[in-house]
Amino acid sequence: MNIKVQCCGIVLILLLSVIYGSQRKLKLTASRVFQGCFYASLFCLFMDILSIVAIVYREMIPLLLAEFICKTYLMSLVLVAMLSVVYIATSVSFHLPNYRKYIAAYVVFAGIITVLIYALPIYMHENVEENLAWTDGASIFATYFGVLVFIVINLVQLFRHKEYIYERQRRTVLIWMFMWIAAACIQMLNNQLLIVGFASALGVTVIFFQFENPELNLDWKTGLFNYVAYTRYGEELYSGSKQPFYVIAVMFENMEWQYDQNSYGSVEAQRVYDIFLKISDAIAFKIMENEVLLFFSKKERAESVWSSCIKWTETEATEAPQGRPSFYYVKDPGCVSSYTELLELLQYVAFQRKDAIRERHYTIDGSIVSQMVEERRMTQQIVEALEEDRVIVYYQPIFSVEKKCFTSAEALVRIIDRDGKLIPPGAFINIAESNGMIIEIGKRVFEKVCDCFQRNRLQDYGIHYIEVNLSVVQCADDKLADKYIDIMDDIKMDPRSINLEITESASLSEKQILISNMERMIKYGVQFSLDDFGTGQSNLNYIVDMPVKIVKFDREMIQSYFSSEKAKYVMDAAMHMIHGMGLDIVAEGIETEEQYKKMEEIKINFVQGYYFSKPLPEQEFLEFLRQKNG
Ligand code: C2E
Ligand code: MG
Ligand code: MG
Repeated sequence: MNIKVQCCGIVLILLLSVIYGSQRKLKLTASRVFQGCFYASLFCLFMDILSIVAIVYREMIPLLLAEFICKTYLMSLVLVAMLSVVYIATSVSFHLPNYRKYIAAYVVFAGIITVLIYALPIYMHENVEENLAWTDGASIFATYFGVLVFIVINLVQLFRHKEYIYERQRRTVLIWMFMWIAAACIQMLNNQLLIVGFASALGVTVIFFQFENPELNLDWKTGLFNYVAYTRYGEELYSGSKQPFYVIAVMFENMEWQYDQNSYGSVEAQRVYDIFLKISDAIAFKIMENEVLLFFSKKERAESVWSSCIKWTETEATEAPQGRPSFYYVKDPGCVSSYTELLELLQYVAFQRKDAIRERHYTIDGSIVSQMVEERRMTQQIVEALEEDRVIVYYQPIFSVEKKCFTSAEALVRIIDRDGKLIPPGAFINIAESNGMIIEIGKRVFEKVCDCFQRNRLQDYGIHYIEVNLSVVQCADDKLADKYIDIMDDIKMDPRSINLEITESASLSEKQILISNMERMIKYGVQFSLDDFGTGQSNLNYIVDMPVKIVKFDREMIQSYFSSEKAKYVMDAAMHMIHGMGLDIVAEGIETEEQYKKMEEIKINFVQGYYFSKPLPEQEFLEFLRQKNG
């Protein structure tokens, strides 16, 4: 009997099933369909052999039974072809939900072909001298037709939904389809060569090694599932199934510190990985060198592991900052819309909490997600505003109590959104500081202020200088002085017309950079103010260290001056000292005449507030100066 090729196929598939069976697997729909292909191919090869046996011994068994066996073999070919199509269709069905309907249609079509195969006639032939057995008849044509249609569908979907199919997966399925076509052609031309079943088994083997080998999903260093596995698993979790799931994440700090020639990664991390590997009902993914995610489908399980994590951070975990784990529990990972967003959320929370050294476990809930979404929306808004030149400057006049006129103004940034609505700095400065965009915003504001001063010759309106806010992030940029001096050089701005407002820097190193920036700019001719004095952001010490000419009393401090006897003493004393150092004072947030009179009485030098004017856009500011200073 001519069954050598088929036997080879069976050996191949059985060998694969040994490898497959011994490995840790991810339960993915596509992988399950692939398993179906696998068993269908095995079945197909068995039926191939059985049908040859049936042909050879057709005289000894009932004709109907022999025909049934041959037709079942044909049906199994259609089954494998259909499963190859469904395998690809499941990959795209996460992105195109109506694809599930297509899958149903493929199954129906396969059903119709099956009915035709069993209904149409088949003829069995044998060439005893050449040891060959084969079949022909309408049933065979129905099979060829069915298989061909599936191959065409598969080629069409491979190209039509290119963007949703991994390149490697596409290439591999193409090879599989090509093998089918080649084998079918050879078999059609020479129907004594029965190689279709074997070709299909070969195709399955190629897919296995290229894409469905469970080893491809594993991180070989740790034994956890890898990032590729995470993307496939996450894609499935976040698209089709609406089943709840729970996530615990672990991040390790400064992992690179632990590397040495003898060990990969940190000892502490490997200890955690080993524990994670043993947790039943959970799937652990290693996302990055320092990040592992655990997925649970049962809430009770997740919560009990979570309490062990908390205990771990409190008792066992190392105190050294290298490789120290922080644990995060995402109670409702469904509050983000994709697996990539889940990673973004974790990165976001880790970044937000990078200074929280003591608390190393944290539960993430929906509120932080809305915060992240809002931040991202605002970041987008800032990017667009910078691109479309919608970052603008308002000017709030500052009154000189001595000269009884407006001698300066504070530049205050605003963003105009696409609908023309004004976004106040309170809504975006913090976000711009945390993502570094404040550097560009600050530069833009500074350019606009210089341009406004030069274009309108503000000195002719009685304005001596404009106060421009500097963020602590800008102050910690050692290129700040260079950048600002370049801008002033370019526009030929008189540096004495600029006064930069600084606030207290958090760290010593930042303070040192700030001082060196200040010294360079002071040499150039720029002066400085200390903003927000009295908010807790500033203290007297700071005034001693900082080469400023003006101190700005915050609105809060002015308000408490009027409401609290103690605060009044504090402010009086501060004022006395500041004046003693030869510095001027600006009182901010003056809203009433009574407040202004008081400031005048206690000899505050400058006053700024709604009592005189709110911050104004350029043209209104000029108009204001014309009327009040003119
Ligand atoms: P700031 O530098 O202390 O500015 C004073 C703030 O108080 C301004 O708010 C101003 O409109 C407001 N204000 C002035 N007078 C009164 C008053 O009488 N009553 C009340 N209730 N408020 C008054 P704004 O424009 O919303 O700015 C808020 C903060 O945003 C500023 O506080 C400053 O820290 C920051 N900022 C504004 N522009 C810039 C900028 O270009 N760069 C940087 N880095 N920060 C800026
Ligand atoms: Mg200010
Ligand atoms: Mg202020």
